[in-house]
Amino acid sequence: MAGGYVTRFAPSPTGPLHLGHAYSALTAWGRARAAGGAMLLRIEDIDPARSKPEWEAAIHDDLAWLGVDYPRPVMRQSERLAEYRAALARLEGLGVLYPCRCSRGDIRAALSAPQEGAVGPDGVIYPGTCRRRAMVDAVAGDAIRLDIGRAMALAGGLEFTESGPEFTGAHRFDAAFMCERVGDVVLARRDFGTSYHLSVVVDDAAQAVTEVVRGADLFEAVPIHLLLQRLLGLPAPAYHHHRLIRDEAGKRLAKRDDARALAKYRAEGATPADIRRMVGL
Ligand code: GLU
Repeated sequence: MAGGYVTRFAPSPTGPLHLGHAYSALTAWGRARAAGGAMLLRIEDIDPARSKPEWEAAIHDDLAWLGVDYPRPVMRQSERLAEYRAALARLEGLGVLYPCRCSRGDIRAALSAPQEGAVGPDGVIYPGTCRRRAMVDAVAGDAIRLDIGRAMALAGGLEFTESGPEFTGAHRFDAAFMCERVGDVVLARRDFGTSYHLSVVVDDAAQAVTEVVRGADLFEAVPIHLLLQRLLGLPAPAYHHHRLIRDEAGKRLAKRDDARALAKYRAEGATPADIRRMVGL
């Protein structure tokens, strides 16, 4: 497989797979097949409070039923905390991290003027309250944030070319964009010591992913991922963000939309071909 196409499907085992997941898995798997490559499964179970073994088992069942296959064993993020810690240590060595003790309430209170409440990929842009704290002063219960201004000063401009249908073409992100529209994101949560962004970047590299295929809702996360890849010296994969599956009212399916769970359609007698039709494949 050296040098070939590799993508991944990376669900969190926090609920049943629904039609949106089916579309995502089938799209990634279809692109891998078309390229003569592989789709890997990755279980994104870094949040121990929300991840459940029964949902993980259901992911394997649903994918087998859909006809989506992948090499085993699969990667599980809960087994890779040492790798995330190592990446964090490397970033710490670059001087781009700081500990943060702000609660959501503290952040809201700091954002008094409405124009300061700009929203980025992870919600409101962090106002920088703890930015002067040093990592040596971190205490248990602190989150760890990326100082995006310092990080961009090291990384320089970021760019990539998107191949998905909604954002096709070249995109560039400079320091001003990153400071105003992304902000100092959390890289290690106080409760489990890593974050979606850090884990995904470390694992896409570890799995030698050449193209990330995922929903358009995660397009906004790309600049953070490009920045972390640059700082950590990891290769940048290509990106393909697919359209989102919406309900009859045009609203996109929530992460936990049990009404559209694949298991429910299956119990009602639907076939994998019916599911493909329902998601427009
Ligand atoms: N685990 C994420 C989710 O379930 C997907 C992450 C990704 O594809 O980058 O939404």
